[in-house]
Amino acid sequence: MATYVFINISAQGHINPTLPIVAELAQRGHRVYYLTGQSSHQLIQNCGGIPIVIPGTQQRQGPAPGDKELALLPFVIARDAQHIVPQIVELLRQLKPDVLICNTLLLWGRLAAQILSLPIIGFRPFHALRKPRVVDGPFDDPRLAALAKTAELSLSSLATAYHLPVLTLRELLEQVEKLTLVFMPKAFQADAEQFDDRFLFAGPSFREPSSVPWPLLNDDKRETIKVYISLGTLRNNQPDFYRKCFSAFSDPKWSVLISAGEVTDLEELGTIPDNFLVRRSVPQTAILRHVDVFVTHGGLNSTMESLYYGVPLVVLPSIREQRVTGNRVEALNLGAVLEPDSLTADALGDATEKVWKNETIKKSVSEMQKHIREAGGYERAANAIISFTD
Ligand code: UDP
Repeated sequence: MATYVFINISAQGHINPTLPIVAELAQRGHRVYYLTGQSSHQLIQNCGGIPIVIPGTQQRQGPAPGDKELALLPFVIARDAQHIVPQIVELLRQLKPDVLICNTLLLWGRLAAQILSLPIIGFRPFHALRKPRVVDGPFDDPRLAALAKTAELSLSSLATAYHLPVLTLRELLEQVEKLTLVFMPKAFQADAEQFDDRFLFAGPSFREPSSVPWPLLNDDKRETIKVYISLGTLRNNQPDFYRKCFSAFSDPKWSVLISAGEVTDLEELGTIPDNFLVRRSVPQTAILRHVDVFVTHGGLNSTMESLYYGVPLVVLPSIREQRVTGNRVEALNLGAVLEPDSLTADALGDATEKVWKNETIKKSVSEMQKHIREAGGYERAANAIISFTD
């Protein structure tokens, strides 16, 4: 039996693809600890993992970060490394993992692995480019300049304390583990030629759930175009958008399911048309089986899950990462991208209908579906983790 320790950010989009891997490892008799925020602990326990809060961290409250906050994230993680990494190191000394399996965004895990000379596997639940964006100055914004300086000081003090070579934030971010799991097929990766054999493109990682019926009463028997709408788990409090959907898909030829998220005020939506069903959350990977077009924010998991079932996409990206995914959807002919800020109901209805009718899109989606099904998913990822220690 081996001992694995995952380290991850507690956001559903980052946690979800790791859960079936945790379940697979646990089922095969391995011990799996999982360091992340409290809000994901129940999910991890359900898969047979042992959740632990990352020492020295607190669960972040408040609205989902936008592009600006996300750009600061590497600096904030580096700044906090000085305090958090020693605590992780102490914990890992007790847990004695055979391998650390770390979200590549979280430098803390990488640094702890270097300090303890532990084998480490990276994973990327996001569509990032191989090289990090600019993290070295000069910076125009004085606050950013100050943060960058504190970040570098934190890294150099850690390096001194643990006798590691002093590396800049850029150098650390550019390091590539011997194995990095990527949750998309290589065919979907932008600039795929930058990625060598150290990157294992496992595709989407989820266990195919048993079938559930399309939840709009009788619409599984009627000839309708089935549209599923979700803006993901983080930035879904968008009553204006959902009302726009009511008018875009008012014709009864559409049968529309909206996942509106946990915080949207459903009262604010007014009367829900008969051909719509609005839920706070749905079993997305089961529902997609029935869907003709997915109107999505372009989260990587949602995009991959959709393509796994051969469903074309209308993407409404709201952050840079989702725009990268949207660009791939457009470039590979897997659907359309619309700008959410200037979106009209007519444009949404038209684009959805065009995507649904388009034969070239249908063909490209079915080719991508093949790549995805061949990528191996969570089982291939779990096998790679197990053979990493063999
Ligand atoms: N999801 C779900 N039910 C819902 C909405 C979302 O199960 O009603 C899941 C979805 O299947 C996906 C994840 O939540 O695995 C969302 O991740 P994604 O990367 O698409 O977007 P994020 O929420 O991180 O922006």
